[in-house]
Amino acid sequence: MVKQISILGSTGSVGRQTLDVIKDFPEKFRVLALTGNKNVDLLAQQVKSFQPELAVLTDPEAARELSRLLVGQKTRVLAGEEGLLAAATYPGTDLLVTAVVGFAGLKPTLAAIDAGIDIALANKETLVAAGRIVMEKARARKVNIIPVDSEHSAIFQCLQGSGPGQLQKIILTASGGPFRNCSRDELAGVTPEQALQHPNWSMGAKITIDSATMMNKGLEVLEAHWLFSLPLTAIEVLVHPQSIVHSLVEFKDGSLLAQLGPPDMRFPILYALTYPERWSNNFSKLDLVGRQLGFAAPDLEVFPCLAYAYEAGEKGGTLPAVVNAANEVAVAAFLKRRIGFLDIPGVIRQVMDGHRLQKDPDLDAIFSADSWAREEAQRIIGTISGIS
Ligand code: NAD
Ligand code: MG
Repeated sequence: MVKQISILGSTGSVGRQTLDVIKDFPEKFRVLALTGNKNVDLLAQQVKSFQPELAVLTDPEAARELSRLLVGQKTRVLAGEEGLLAAATYPGTDLLVTAVVGFAGLKPTLAAIDAGIDIALANKETLVAAGRIVMEKARARKVNIIPVDSEHSAIFQCLQGSGPGQLQKIILTASGGPFRNCSRDELAGVTPEQALQHPNWSMGAKITIDSATMMNKGLEVLEAHWLFSLPLTAIEVLVHPQSIVHSLVEFKDGSLLAQLGPPDMRFPILYALTYPERWSNNFSKLDLVGRQLGFAAPDLEVFPCLAYAYEAGEKGGTLPAVVNAANEVAVAAFLKRRIGFLDIPGVIRQVMDGHRLQKDPDLDAIFSADSWAREEAQRIIGTISGIS
C-alpha cells in the first residue's frame, strides 16, 4: 500500500532529509502537501521532483512568486497560516511530518489531530508549549504521535514490546554541543558562527543554538515528559559527546536498553515513516570497531537553560510555553548579534521571573502566555542591546 505523506517545513533541515528518505522508496510513498516559509526556489524544486497536490509558503509575497514559477503545473499554491492549516489537514494524508520550527507548529499540529491524521513529530516546541492539550487531543482522536527527534525515537524503539509498569526511567543523551568543555567565562565572547558549529549534527540554526546552550536538551526533557507520560524525576540527561547512543531506558530490574546509530536523522525519520515496520535502506551503517564512547553528567552551572526547562516542567501551567517563547526570541536576537551568548539564559531567567504562572491553561491562555513572553523578552533585549 502506498503511504500518503505531507510535510510541514519541507524546506528545512528535517523536511529536506524527510524528502531524501522518501525519494528512495518511490513505490511506497506519495507526497501530498509540502510547506515552507519563504524559500521559493527550494519549494519549487521540491514540487517539480515530488509533484505534490498542494504547496504552501507562509510568506504571501513568496507564495505569489511560487505560483508564477509553477504556472502550468497541477500543484495548487496557497499562502499564509490558512495555507499551512490546509496542508496540515490535507484530505487523504496518512502521516503528517511536522518539521516546522518553533511555536508556529502548534496550530497546524492541533488541526491535523482534529482531522484524525497521524503525526511524525519533529517540532518539539509544540509539546513543550502545549503538551497536555496536544496529547489529550491525540488520545481522544486516537491519533498516533510518532517521535522523529533522535532521542525520542530511540526511547520509543527501546520501549517496543515492553509491558506496562516495567519502566523505571529514561536517559536522554546530549552531545553537549560545541562548548561542552568550556567554562562560563569562555562562553561570554562566543559568536553566532562558533555556536552554529555543531560537532556531530547538521541542523537548522535555531536548534543548533539550542544545542550550544543545552536548551535543546531541556526542551527534549519536556517533550519526553509528554510523549511518554513520565514524571520529570524519571527523565535524566547524560552527556555523550559521540552522539552514537541516541538514548536509553532503564527498567525496574536495573537493565538498560539503548538504541545506537550514526548521527544521521534519516534513521529516526525512516522509522517514523515506516513504524511499526523496519525497512532496508542504503544509509551508511554504524561500525563500532575502535569507537570510544564516553558519558558524563551535564554541568548545570555552565548550562543553566537545562535547569530552567526542568524548573518550568515542575512548576507547569503556562511556564513551559513562556520559557519556549523567551528562548525563541533570545536565540533570534543572538543570531542577529543583538545580545551575547550568555544573555540567552539571562533573558529567559528574567522572563520566567516576571511571569505570573497560570495553572491548567487552555489553548487561549497558552497563546496569551506565548505573546506576553515574546514581548517581555524583546523589552529585556532592548535594554541589553540599547535598541528598543
Ligand atoms: P529549519 O529551520 O531547518 O526548518 C524549519 C522549517 O520551518 C523550514 O521549512 C521553514 O521554512 C519553516 N518555517 C520557519 N518558520 C515558520 C513559520 N513561522 N511558519 C511556517 N513555517 C515556518 O529547522 P529544523 O532544524 O529542520 O527543525 C525543525 C524542527 O525539528 C524543530 O522543532 C527542531 O527542534 C526539530 N528537530 C530538528 C532536528 C534536525 O536535525 N534539524 C532534529 C530533531 C528535532
Ligand atoms: Mg534531539
